[in-house]
Amino acid sequence: MSKRAYNFNAGPAALPLEVLERAQAEFVNYGDTGMSIMEMSHRGAVYEAVHNEAQERLLSLLGNPSGYKVLFIQGGASTQFAMIPMNFLGQGQVANYVMTGSWAEKAIKEARLIGETHVAASSEASKYMALPELQDIKLSDHAAYLHLTSNETIEGTQFKEFPDTGSVPLICDMSSDILSRPFDLSQFAMVYAGAQKNLGPSGVAVVIVREDMITDSPKHLPSMLRYDTYLKNNSLYNTPPSFGIYMINEVLKWIQEKGGLEGVQELNRKKAALIYDAIDSSGGFYRGCVNAEVRSDMNITFRLGTEELEKEFVKASEQEGFVGLKGHRSVGGLRASVYNALPYESAQALVQFMQQFQNSRS
Ligand SMILES: *Cc1c(COP(=O)(O)O)cnc(C)c1O
Repeated sequence: MSKRAYNFNAGPAALPLEVLERAQAEFVNYGDTGMSIMEMSHRGAVYEAVHNEAQERLLSLLGNPSGYKVLFIQGGASTQFAMIPMNFLGQGQVANYVMTGSWAEKAIKEARLIGETHVAASSEASKYMALPELQDIKLSDHAAYLHLTSNETIEGTQFKEFPDTGSVPLICDMSSDILSRPFDLSQFAMVYAGAQKNLGPSGVAVVIVREDMITDSPKHLPSMLRYDTYLKNNSLYNTPPSFGIYMINEVLKWIQEKGGLEGVQELNRKKAALIYDAIDSSGGFYRGCVNAEVRSDMNITFRLGTEELEKEFVKASEQEGFVGLKGHRSVGGLRASVYNALPYESAQALVQFMQQFQNSRS
């Protein structure tokens, strides 16, 4: 096999090589059934065992908190942006959002279609280079929930702590940093993530939610857009994205083998520190895009002196086997996404390339 790319894609993103190889080994004949997992009935015992195992493994990695359920829902994190207000924003209530960047904006946009919203805090004035201080989050009266984005994938910021919202449910979009570090699930009524950054392939969103939040969805909602449908049917009301869920289970096994959330966090911090150090020690040749104290360990955003130079950087990097270093089209610049599965060696190779590139221009 030819060499694997240094894959810094933002999503879909790198998966652990060990997981891909394991999946490959059982691709055409899963567990001696004579079938691929993709060819099996989702009502059969073999698939169902995988489905349940993925849910159990996920809760186990989070310390088996009581009262939480894992749902698998299609439509990515973006469908959750709509389902959250549809299910949780009642008459006379207000949906509260913390505005931190591109994904928070997309989330509130959907809520505005459904009902009344309130911006509880915003760092827009800083062009999202900062994050709001937790004590500056001001909930409205009759708050149905507070929605937060733990990691802004495009801007490259990440909350290090989460607010205490008392009796108001805290809901968090963790699409780009779920399972990258330990967190206390009991602070949250619900967390969710599109799988394609830290959990597996695209095509499924993982929702971890307090069961009492979703026992009765509003009567007028269609079946597929109600959380109680997924709860009552163990996410098997219709055909689930079974291959994606199988892959998630394999990724979860891999996280367990790496020492769980503490283990992957240590690795993630090392990778991120290596690259941020390279930026900070470049004498201004590379500049980080966001304030140092809110830098993300998952998405490292940086710039060069001119857009021309950034284009040259991307081109040269591609010739050296790097993928995905161009910043999101909405903000420009450069971005290295260093999710769980990005090998340390790839981060080392990037730092070496950055130094070479700098030397060649000065
Ligand atoms: C990628 C991403 C999304 C969108 O996910 P889809 O699965 O493509 O809908 C939402 N929120 C955050 C923070 C993301 O990084």
